[in-house]
Amino acid sequence: MQVFETIKDFRAARQAVSGDLGFVPTMGYLHDGHLELVRYALRQNTQVAVSIFVNPTQFGPHEDFSGYPRDMQRDLAQLKALGAHLVFTPSVTEMYPPNFQTYVEVESVSQGLEGARRPGHFRGVATVVNKLLNIIQPQRAYFGQKDAQQCAVIRQMVADLAIPTEIVIVPTIRAEDGLALSSRNSYLTAEQREAASVLYRALSAAKARYADGERNPDHLRDEMLEVLAQEPLAQVEYVSVADAFTLHELTETITRSVLLSMAVRIGKARLIDNMMIEVE
Ligand code: AMP
Repeated sequence: MQVFETIKDFRAARQAVSGDLGFVPTMGYLHDGHLELVRYALRQNTQVAVSIFVNPTQFGPHEDFSGYPRDMQRDLAQLKALGAHLVFTPSVTEMYPPNFQTYVEVESVSQGLEGARRPGHFRGVATVVNKLLNIIQPQRAYFGQKDAQQCAVIRQMVADLAIPTEIVIVPTIRAEDGLALSSRNSYLTAEQREAASVLYRALSAAKARYADGERNPDHLRDEMLEVLAQEPLAQVEYVSVADAFTLHELTETITRSVLLSMAVRIGKARLIDNMMIEVE
């Protein structure tokens, strides 16, 4: 496994790759969700590149950029054990030199849900992913369904800007009690960690209501809120029942695929999760 800190060095190694290159962008502090993306990429490509970069432009001024968990040595050991080929670990100034002044703005699909609560977040995500795709030049890039709106934003950007990379979405990896794996779960105390399974239970309850025939999006939102209200440590930021493609909030009877999603604060952690309801 080769590790590169500069764009110039990565590019030189990229020239030597023959066959398809798969790419997994991450912010590090790797867990089994990230590793699942790498496993997918290893199955579908000759070589796999992973980036580890905590991207400052996708954090708001009062968010957790400086406190975001980091452990480069452990991350590299995990990637090596899995069989990743190339790792790109740029510094902030390598990605954003002093005269940097170009950003990518994906419009409608960035605006609701996370975009509404984290102004500028998807501008930072789209910008860094575009730049990483230009550096890595992969045939395929892998993203987790855990960040459903991020997947939609990246797909839109790649289509709109004719970026020649196939985007592959990988299902959410969960702990045994249903909690979606996330680097931010490390902020939770033992008691909070136990409480955090409430997100999964709320999403599952709404999905079960749908399976029982419920088609009113307000009733599905109420179902999620009722389950979340049973957990005193959970502070709900939002619950959503949105069109799975536009991500616009649904007000009418459900006739198309929908995305159930939520953001919930537990202690220091802001947790997000989602489930899809597929309608033929
Ligand atoms: P992050 O390091 O949080 O930026 O995540 C890097 C990639 O891993 C993103 O595409 C995430 O959606 C994906 N990811 C994070 N957690 C999970 C999970 N529990 N299951 C599947 N993919 C995940």
